[in-house]
Amino acid sequence: MKKSLICVWMQPAMKTKIIFSEKCLGYGAWHIEGPQRVKMAHEILKEKGYEFLEPDAASEEDLLKVHEAEYIWNLKKGLVEDSDTPAYDNIYEYARLSAGAAILAAKINGFSLMRPPGHHAGRSGAALGVYTRGFCYLNNIAIAVKAIGKPALILDVDGHHGNGTQEIFQGDEKVVYVSLHRYPYYPGTGAYSEGNCLNFPLPADCGEQRYLETLDQALGIVDVGRFEVVAVSVGFDTHLGDLASLGLTENSYRKIGERIAALKKPTFFILEGGYVGAKNGKGIDQFLRGYEGEL
Ligand SMILES: [Zn+2]
Repeated sequence: MKKSLICVWMQPAMKTKIIFSEKCLGYGAWHIEGPQRVKMAHEILKEKGYEFLEPDAASEEDLLKVHEAEYIWNLKKGLVEDSDTPAYDNIYEYARLSAGAAILAAKINGFSLMRPPGHHAGRSGAALGVYTRGFCYLNNIAIAVKAIGKPALILDVDGHHGNGTQEIFQGDEKVVYVSLHRYPYYPGTGAYSEGNCLNFPLPADCGEQRYLETLDQALGIVDVGRFEVVAVSVGFDTHLGDLASLGLTENSYRKIGERIAALKKPTFFILEGGYVGAKNGKGIDQFLRGYEGEL
């Protein structure tokens, strides 16, 4: 008698691993940048079968490649606070773990689902004359890019301008920074391009078509061949109704992911904003499905 062939239909596992630690849920339950943002996203992505990795904290040496020693010292001592960005107990340790997750994402081409976010944090705190650090303590994407030391295209698709990232890499010949963001809006920077920092301000709720046309235009003027890696600051506060809405939907994130995949470079992703946990989870799933060419 012939052996019967058993076919098991399974959804193929996503290739991009998610970097996450429950430790990042331990602060700021009352704040809009609160633990539910990533807790719900983690639950959704777990249900969808994603694989998770635990990060280690970034070393002080890694932080000092981006930030001034005095700022790090003040952060460690809980001495730095502004109206958006509280001096929570142990925030230095939370921020160091989020930065370490970004480094791990850069090493394995993964997606860091951690908090606090980072792209508003400049060398010494608030960047480019902005009055707050916008919920950010350490610039995770900058720390990751400096840690791997490769020529990088940084693409920032959070709804806010990454003034910290621009400040850190302004004039850096190894990096081009491209940002699409709502303007005029917090932090008030990014109205025009400056040297290696290419800024694409967009009006509130501009919608998917205008957004994608602008993204195509932005990626079209970059000489992608120069770069060894694409580092993406991903924010879902561009979603309709979220904090920096540009009128995007879940489906828009899939299309953004497809465009990033078309660059055909090793790529990693760092979560920035996005203030509704369920939308972050579904948005990340769609984004990565687009990136990996899933249907
Ligand atoms: Zn944002």
